[in-house]
Amino acid sequence: MVFDNKYKMTKKVKNANWKDWTWHIRHSIKTLKQFEEITEIKFTPEEKAVLEETIKKFPLSITPYYLSLIDLQNYKTDPVYLQSFPSTKELNVLPHEMTDPLSEDKDSPAPYLTHRYPDRVLLHVSNLCSMYCRHCTRKRKVGDKDSIPSFEELEEAFKYIEKNGKIRDVLLSGGDPLMLSDEYIDKILAKISQIPHIEIIRIGTRTPVVLPYRITPKLIKVLKKYRPLYINTHFNHPRELTNSSKKALTMLADAGIVLGNQSVLLAGVNDCPRIIKTLCQKLVKNRVRPYYLYQCDLSEGLTHFRTPVNKGIEIIESMIGHTTGFARPIYVIDAPGGGGKIPVEPNYIISWGANKVILRNYEGVITTYKEPDFYEATFCNRDCVNCKLQLNLEEANKFSTIGIEKLLSDTDKTISLVPSVNQRMKRRKRNKTNENG
Ligand SMILES: *Cc1c(COP(=O)(O)O)cnc(C)c1O
Repeated sequence: MVFDNKYKMTKKVKNANWKDWTWHIRHSIKTLKQFEEITEIKFTPEEKAVLEETIKKFPLSITPYYLSLIDLQNYKTDPVYLQSFPSTKELNVLPHEMTDPLSEDKDSPAPYLTHRYPDRVLLHVSNLCSMYCRHCTRKRKVGDKDSIPSFEELEEAFKYIEKNGKIRDVLLSGGDPLMLSDEYIDKILAKISQIPHIEIIRIGTRTPVVLPYRITPKLIKVLKKYRPLYINTHFNHPRELTNSSKKALTMLADAGIVLGNQSVLLAGVNDCPRIIKTLCQKLVKNRVRPYYLYQCDLSEGLTHFRTPVNKGIEIIESMIGHTTGFARPIYVIDAPGGGGKIPVEPNYIISWGANKVILRNYEGVITTYKEPDFYEATFCNRDCVNCKLQLNLEEANKFSTIGIEKLLSDTDKTISLVPSVNQRMKRRKRNKTNENG
């Protein structure tokens, strides 16, 4: 990177410092003045006034490493600049935007914990990040005083996980969990991994993208102790895959950590089938499996980043069949109000007869798949021990189903799911009371 060198020249940065992640934290760019000084980009007084206001609400922080990836000649359309430097449009909050669009705080049974799905939880172990993504869904937490909960403060969350035998998957998030010290990460991972019903631990981190030097041999030594460990990172543009970030990914993959990537679809940054496809192909080349492509959440001030949903569908259409199956992320909308991630796909089923389904493929070929004329369905009475399918799961009948799965179940008598606020049901209740009265 050209600017990499320029940065070092202007700031007289020693190579030793440049590779030291703590140096980057100490020298993160947090003010407009610093940014202008280093990049020699000048803003007008009007722009500055708005930007200062913006930073007050949504703080600025860019690691020198990530800043060095900006192409200064074309910074206005640069994907790194757009993701890290505030836009004057951020204060433009629309009525349908929310501070906590995913209701993470409402689904919190213990401090720092979000429990949304039946078998897995999200544990916010810090609100620190080395770089503040402008498109952050948890903007509400950024710039609250930087805080890392102490081990004691996490105690209640640990107790909740220990008591809840259905939880088998703990996802460490934040902020960025890898902003914690190696020792603290070790302590938290040790604590969680000794809970008998926890089968997997995951870490969500953007450090391989914005601060790859954080992935040190010492950190690897800590992470290696815990298996299975999954790490999801957050690359949004092929330009972010530098030699340094590739090296970080290699170290993680070599340590036996399973790597995934979650991207956010962002207008002006990566809302292009070719960009996402190139990104995903480069990721799999580096042993990172694309996991989710997120529709941009309804967090405050992100209007300028949002695309219509059809853009995401168009991108997925350009990938299914066209490239390696596992290079394709699942495009999801995280349900406003806290319903969780909902996959959105192009349609491949064109029609369906009594025993024939009509499908189309990625080339436009329309094909038929003949279904069996005779199929002896396995009636499920939840008695796994006596079932011919030989799962032999004891006490399977104790587990109840929810949602659409409940409607499909053989044993549950439920025939419809009714919203709790339903006028028709309210009327029924009223009529019943009338009859009785
Ligand atoms: C995304 C998320 C998870 C994990 O979901 P997966 O689909 O299993 O990756 C868990 N809890 C919360 C609150 C989440 O937002």
